[in-house]
Amino acid sequence: MTRNVKNCVGCGRCEIGELVSLMEECGINLFISTGGTVARRKVYEDRPDAVIAVACERDLTSGLQDSYPLPVFAIVNKRPRGYCMETGVAMSEVRQAIKDLVGGS
Ligand code: SF4
Repeated sequence: MTRNVKNCVGCGRCEIGELVSLMEECGINLFISTGGTVARRKVYEDRPDAVIAVACERDLTSGLQDSYPLPVFAIVNKRPRGYCMETGVAMSEVRQAIKDLVGGS
């Protein structure tokens, strides 16, 4: 997968296509990071109002600390083959985080 989500054609073999659609629908920026350092730099540069972060526990923990006082919804990634291999996203958790952020039901 590329870091540029615009290259995704939504083939359905991973969650990126669904994430792209959901983010466009909700007006949320989606950024794919190759690691915690890149993600932290992006947060620092973009200064968002809030972050929904999907990563392993280690990156989430350090990202939460470094993003303070920004509100961060931390979602542990799916790792059917172990760390950093074919990781995935629990879309139901992302949808719930968006609802919590915008105050929907
Ligand atoms: S859905 Fe996943 S596998 Fe399919 S084009 Fe998009 S990024 Fe690639």
